Amino acid sequence: MPDIAVPTPALTVLSDEETMFRDAVREFAETDVRPHVYDMDQAAQFRPDLIAKFFELGLMGIEVPEEYGGSGGTIFMAVLAIEELARVDASAAIYVDVHNTLVNNAVGRWSSEEQKARLFPRLTTEMLGAFALSEPASGSDAFALETRANRASDGWSLTGRKFWITNGAEAELFIVFANTDFSKGYKGITAFLVERSFPGFSIGKKENKLGIRASSTVELILEDCRVPDDNVLGPVGQGYKIAIETLNEGRIGIGAQMIGLAAGALEHTIKYTKERKQFGKPIAEFQAVQHQIARAAVDVEAARLTVYNAARLRDAGKPFLTEAAICKIFSSEVAERVSSLAVNLFGGNGFVKEYPVEKLFRDAKIGQIYEGTSNLQLQTIAKQIIG
Ligand SMILES: Cc1cc2nc3c(=O)[nH]c(=O)nc-3n(C[C@H](O)[C@H](O)[C@H](O)COP(=O)(O)OP(=O)(O)OC[C@H]3O[C@@H](n4cnc5c(N)ncnc54)[C@H](O)[C@@H]3O)c2cc1C
Repeated sequence: MPDIAVPTPALTVLSDEETMFRDAVREFAETDVRPHVYDMDQAAQFRPDLIAKFFELGLMGIEVPEEYGGSGGTIFMAVLAIEELARVDASAAIYVDVHNTLVNNAVGRWSSEEQKARLFPRLTTEMLGAFALSEPASGSDAFALETRANRASDGWSLTGRKFWITNGAEAELFIVFANTDFSKGYKGITAFLVERSFPGFSIGKKENKLGIRASSTVELILEDCRVPDDNVLGPVGQGYKIAIETLNEGRIGIGAQMIGLAAGALEHTIKYTKERKQFGKPIAEFQAVQHQIARAAVDVEAARLTVYNAARLRDAGKPFLTEAAICKIFSSEVAERVSSLAVNLFGGNGFVKEYPVEKLFRDAKIGQIYEGTSNLQLQTIAKQIIG
């Protein structure tokens, strides 16, 4: 008998557990988040009760081992949660995304047993996290960061400013990257677990943004901020590695946010074009419109496969660097294209705030900027495939 390999199911075939989880998040997003999306965007303010619900529902410890209060799940499950939230609101999605794919992920991989036992019970129940790498003069060139960490009698003293920090207005724990020895260049960079209550830590201005307006993006100010030795994350001088490796995984989450946004835009578009009549019939009956919608569906499907593939590779312990970069750049371009089509097919209604799609168009843009711009993703892909 020849060996007959068991066929691998399609990437979009979910296990029973994954299906139940996705459906639960979808229902929550529809019932609890959707009614507030417009007001939160207008006010540029996310509702604290929704953040509390993310914790209650177990969305803030998806991959954290059960022994520390998490769900012991996979990055694929985080992708499902982020996608479903972003179908309704990309801002809601980014709260959950940063907390899981950056903060919990870095703590899970790099912290000591003592730190995990101390932080995870809080990170899974009430303490929102943020990831603070960027600075005014160092974005793409992240390791040119200027925040300094000097030895102090009782640990470390951090001084500098961090820019554009997502979740920053509400977060209690910040993973802050600072250089402990500039003579070593990027090999002086070290990650610190900084709590909001630490002396010398404060929040600066809140950004007034084009999109994901309800998500908080703030400046952090560190003035002789005192951080105990117990709050160094990973080895001193390995912060660059922690940042790179964490962001490689984080990009899968941004891909998930973008496919959710694109899927939401497509759903709005199909519904509207079936209702809106011109020339005596619904505009969805015009073949030109049907083809535009079909092309958007092709885009969403293809982008979803790139995201699911990167997530499944990561969960299988296989290399996923190139695939994560591909999923991020492609999904964010698809989100921009599909939300732009939505605006077009809503006509004048696509341009006004009374209808949902102008927000989607604004929200889509961030996918090509944060966690590495599209040019930087291309650079990563090129380096992997060309050498
Ligand atoms: C809403 C929002 C939320 C954010 N959240 C966080 C967060 O939580 N934590 C955090 O640390 N940071 C965060 N950021 C920062 C974000 O990661 C940076 O904005 C991003 O990495 C780009 O850096 P920059 O803005 O300095 O742009 P720059 O690096 O100045 O880039 C400007 C342009 O030049 C291009 N460019 C730069 N270098 C190259 C190159 N070598 N080759 C080709 N093109 C190049 C870029 O692609 C881009 O188009 C956030 C930003 C925003 C807007």
